[in-house]
Amino acid sequence: GESISEDEKRRPWRYPVKVDRTQLGTEKATLLMLARNNDLYAVRESMRRLEDRFNHKFRYPWTFMNDEPFTEEFIAITTGIASGKTEYVRVPKEHWGFPSWVNQTHAKLQMKKMADEHIIYGGSLSYRHMCRFFSGFFFRQPVMQQYEWYWRVEPGVNFYCDQHYDPFRWLRENGKSYGFTVTLHDFRETIASLWETTERFFYENPEYVNPNNMRGFVIENTTRNGEPYVDYNTCHFWTNFEIGKVSLWTSEKYLRYFDYLDKTGNFFYERWGDAPVHSVALTHMWDKKEIHFFNDIGYEHSPFRRCPQAHEHGNAGRCLCPLDMSLVDNNGFSCFEQWKKTFGDNYEVDLTW
Ligand code: GDP
Ligand code: MN
Repeated sequence: GESISEDEKRRPWRYPVKVDRTQLGTEKATLLMLARNNDLYAVRESMRRLEDRFNHKFRYPWTFMNDEPFTEEFIAITTGIASGKTEYVRVPKEHWGFPSWVNQTHAKLQMKKMADEHIIYGGSLSYRHMCRFFSGFFFRQPVMQQYEWYWRVEPGVNFYCDQHYDPFRWLRENGKSYGFTVTLHDFRETIASLWETTERFFYENPEYVNPNNMRGFVIENTTRNGEPYVDYNTCHFWTNFEIGKVSLWTSEKYLRYFDYLDKTGNFFYERWGDAPVHSVALTHMWDKKEIHFFNDIGYEHSPFRRCPQAHEHGNAGRCLCPLDMSLVDNNGFSCFEQWKKTFGDNYEVDLTW
């Protein structure tokens, strides 16, 4: 075939596919979805869309996880949609339940309190198991040992752009470990003590802080009891989409961080999400060069959507987003401004297009 220029290798999103350069995926990677049997319709939507936009060209395998056994119907339909192989994992009880040190009576009281305060998912126990599972256990399922990379997919999401290059391969070839599409502020009430716990962890384990970290993205200068205080600004990568290296989470430093958090019981007493947990870990313990903003991937998970601008996806007509859509970048929930501030001139958008 035609040879590929250095620029195309670095910025494949700028190049329309005139020559078919796609090939079966060559990375050790899987599309990963946690789902319930009754999510099936929304699972079909996500799969059909991601297959049509991307995976029919690469045929990466799908891995499904569930705390209950999948039904025959779920297996038959998802196998039918997938262009690659499919695997189904039953999550063991030890990875989806209360750990021994958590006081369940206290947890239930806290849940009741948070439900009364109308905190989103404040009263839900299954949501807490899910967040703890994504924070600490999905990567421990033996099925993941065959993979270096995963792309997390949720039921009911939408992809707006033709994905003509392999994002796993692109991340690897460009020395990245993690990619996101949307970054948002969190609800403070759900993570009341996450930040002080994190600060204590890094105070006790300073060797885990990466000298070229991107802590600047997640902090804000404020005051507490009249004294200056550096607080968490709640910015996080929205983890219902993430493309990452499995080894991020199996690393000793991350496992120790997770364990430290988990021992507080606050995945249950509060309602710590896997998004702030992953994000705080990434922004402290990894080099900021390893984190990539896929600003060329159009993505929707209700209630937020992101449509790449022409200068971001480069290639005219590659994305088709609803015309009425409000860009998440421009509203108060977004952390796009913080991202640009952190990266300054290194923020890679090709404005010359
Ligand atoms: P939201 O995106 O934060 O509103 O939360 P979701 O309800 O979408 O849940 C996040 C992910 O976890 C989705 O992939 C769900 O299918 C999955 N999930 C949530 N709760 C459960 C559960 O109790 N069991 C299983 N198997 N999956 C769950
Ligand atoms: Mn969801």
